[in-house]
Amino acid sequence: MLVVMEAKATKEEVTTVISYLQSLNLKAEELPGANRVAIGVTGNKKHISHQEVQRMPGVKELIQVTHKYKRVSREFYPDNTIVKVKNALFGGNAPVLIAGPCSVESEDQIMRTAEMLKSLGVEVLRGGIFKPRTSPYDFQGLGYKGLELLKKASVASDLPICVELMNPEDISLFEHEVDIIQIGARNMQNFDLLKKLGKIQTPVLLKRGASSTVEEFLLAAEYILDGGNSNVILCERGIRTFETSTRNTLDLNSVALIRKMSHLPIIVDPCHAAGRHDLVTPLAMAAMAVGAQGLIIETHPEPFKALSDANQQLDFEQFSEFVSQYKRIQEVLKPVVSLK
Ligand code: PEP
Ligand code: MN
Repeated sequence: MLVVMEAKATKEEVTTVISYLQSLNLKAEELPGANRVAIGVTGNKKHISHQEVQRMPGVKELIQVTHKYKRVSREFYPDNTIVKVKNALFGGNAPVLIAGPCSVESEDQIMRTAEMLKSLGVEVLRGGIFKPRTSPYDFQGLGYKGLELLKKASVASDLPICVELMNPEDISLFEHEVDIIQIGARNMQNFDLLKKLGKIQTPVLLKRGASSTVEEFLLAAEYILDGGNSNVILCERGIRTFETSTRNTLDLNSVALIRKMSHLPIIVDPCHAAGRHDLVTPLAMAAMAVGAQGLIIETHPEPFKALSDANQQLDFEQFSEFVSQYKRIQEVLKPVVSLK
């Protein structure tokens, strides 16, 4: 529920309403907003007397938020959330590019990749170190050694790093060593993990589960915001459908829809959606056209030798070609991307 206050309501009137709601064991907080003073209310509202709140001094109206998700909704926060990662602003005026290999494999591989990305203006370096592989016999990642290599590449290139977290026990390490904590599709509904991420302030890249609805995706983000961390970047990475000719089906409806329903930034991962390198650039362009606020792209110096996702990673030449298309489409799309 939203309690919208009169524009002329005093600070005391706002505080009195908040204290009253809190006395009913509800979470109530003043919501920032340029054009209104409002109080967001979450929790079990069974015992609330709406009339009583409606009649409190300074209260203009009560609005029931119809969606299950509250804090991620634009009804609660009308303005775009901007997640700051070093110099990159997710949800700001310009899209943000995250790129790097699926897995960190060697010092030479990650150093060369970081250098190439930096030279092309990419803002964030990605690399998996604990890999969620479907088969236990596939490469599982370099683990903590991989993090050391990523940090070395980050220092050399001055790029922040985005790394997937799998084990809740690693949260305190990732909180300080990683610039963006990625939660992969397979862990999108790992609610204990999400609750713990709500207790820190490190930005989280939350990828959509392969079989999750948009509502389930937004409710997963709601767990993190409800815990107290609003630095959440959403990522559409394709969903599983009846279509098997590509690895997943890129659901671009979700991007256009989420731009309307939520204030959180949303980016797109065309690599995991397509599963093949030759479709990455066209899908990336389509994602930009529907309002994606950034992209995450897998690239590798020698994709054919990659230890994971070999078929969907761009080689450096393909990546450079992708970047020139990405720059060109931004020029055309400026007015579209700024739409809410
Ligand atoms: C990845 O980004 O390497 C990854 C495993 O992605 P997803 O969780 O979307 O499958
Ligand atoms: Mn991958």
